Amino acid sequence: MTATEIRQAFLDFFVSKGHIIVPSAPIVIKNDPTLMFTNAGMNQFKDIFLGEAPAKAPRAADTQRCLRVSGKHNDLEEVGIDTYHHTMFEMLGNWSFGDYFKKEAIAWGWELLTEVYKLPKDRLYITYFEGDDKEGLEKDTESHELWKALVAEDHILRGNKKDNFWEMGETGPCGPCSEIHYDSRPDSERAEIDGATLVNADHDQVIEIWNIVFMQFNRLKGGALQPLPAKHVDTGMGFERLVRVLQGKSSNYDTDVFQPMIQFIADKSGKQYNSKSKPGDADWNEAVAMRVLADHIRAISFAIADGQLPSNNKAGYVIRRILRRAVRYSYQYLGFKEPFLNQLVHLLADQFKGVFDNLYSQKDFVQKVVLEEEVSFLRTLEKGITLFEDLIKDHNSKIHESGSVSYVSGFGEENVTNKNVIPGLFAFVLNDTHGFPIDLTELMAREKGFTVNMVEYEAALQEQKTRSRAASVVDTGDWVVLRDNDNVEFTGYDETETVAHVVKYRKV
Ligand code: ATP
Ligand code: MG
Ligand code: MG
Ligand code: MG
Repeated sequence: MTATEIRQAFLDFFVSKGHIIVPSAPIVIKNDPTLMFTNAGMNQFKDIFLGEAPAKAPRAADTQRCLRVSGKHNDLEEVGIDTYHHTMFEMLGNWSFGDYFKKEAIAWGWELLTEVYKLPKDRLYITYFEGDDKEGLEKDTESHELWKALVAEDHILRGNKKDNFWEMGETGPCGPCSEIHYDSRPDSERAEIDGATLVNADHDQVIEIWNIVFMQFNRLKGGALQPLPAKHVDTGMGFERLVRVLQGKSSNYDTDVFQPMIQFIADKSGKQYNSKSKPGDADWNEAVAMRVLADHIRAISFAIADGQLPSNNKAGYVIRRILRRAVRYSYQYLGFKEPFLNQLVHLLADQFKGVFDNLYSQKDFVQKVVLEEEVSFLRTLEKGITLFEDLIKDHNSKIHESGSVSYVSGFGEENVTNKNVIPGLFAFVLNDTHGFPIDLTELMAREKGFTVNMVEYEAALQEQKTRSRAASVVDTGDWVVLRDNDNVEFTGYDETETVAHVVKYRKV
């Protein structure tokens, strides 16, 4: 089956079970202070679950574009490294708003996977919520019994609160869940190690594909759980993961969802994509970079198409960081010294025509925005990378000579004795003067076996804030504390104009 057929089969199945198909909500959230981006299919139904809005129909299904790069659900660090976490992904979902509950949700989930998609039963594992004494939550015996009627007992596992009690964010609807996992390892490996022991163990070939949540509570500010006025079903299945298991691949990137994009990137860079590359291999960084590009362009494009332009604060800054992260990978590992990312927008828009048409209809605009961002960041990227490489060399030789190095800037003084630590003040200057998001510096550090002194970095950031009293401070709980745009003039990335305080940096 092609990806398109797989998506359609999901929707058709739930129509046959009395569901209406609803459109995906935008990926950008403008009216909920607890969330910047849509992180699950249920977000658009939050008010219905809370009993604050009526449902249009008792049963609904859709494919929802999601983004998990901030807040409670943040997968950014895994993306490109593993084979199954993306920034932007499609979440297939079906919902019951106070209508059917566990019995139907479980039976239909199993029917779809094993009878429509014909996934082999012995490769599927189920988890159910074991309860939690601390919160006074009971074991989900009902689901356990329902699963036992369908699935071999050694394929049903107890799951803890972390994996089997789903929460949208720090507050909001939540409840116990049953997850479905798939073991795609070759038979020889499966004979050696029982798949049950690899569920929820970050194994690249034993992955979660579907989460069936029984929405029963509202998590209040302060942490208390309040029962919802009615009981609901909320399911979410990772579309790219489903396609991967149905197409018999060992990576989401090897499916027809990602291959056209990967091939385009490979062709243009003149390098081959090696999906089997392992950390430490000569082509590892290239493979990661191709996956990062193929992934990040989706997050960037859909965010822009849904109204979130890259900017210097909040959600806009999150998008800018993702974009800069992608540009850095393409520059350093794929040899793209000129703007390249923007060329991927049209390919993506074509791919999603008929699924998410909002990108197709705005593709020229989106491409233009990406191009402008690339141009401005590329101007300072090379300089930043050189500074970074120089620092590492210099830093190591100084520590080798005298055992420590002192760093002084207008924002403080820092003494570093560990040769694998990037001074926080340096990371601050890279960010402040050169527009390097801190996570990009951390990433570059990690690639060299370094960590960043985040304590000093935060101290410098704090110091800067104290000084620019005029700037209001916003802490969203997502990412780091950012300056509010109101009082910061953003004039591009030219070194001397970006922020109120230009830091002179010297080593002693
Ligand atoms: P995982 O444990 O693999 O990180 P999760 O438990 O965080 O997944 P849920 O919040 O239960 O994920 O979301 C429902 C489904 O969405 C998952 O079963 C999975 O198939 C898919 N999914 C979750 N995160 C991602 C992601 N970053 N990229 C692609 N698919 C995802
Ligand atoms: Mg997760
Ligand atoms: Mg999980
Ligand atoms: Mg889950």
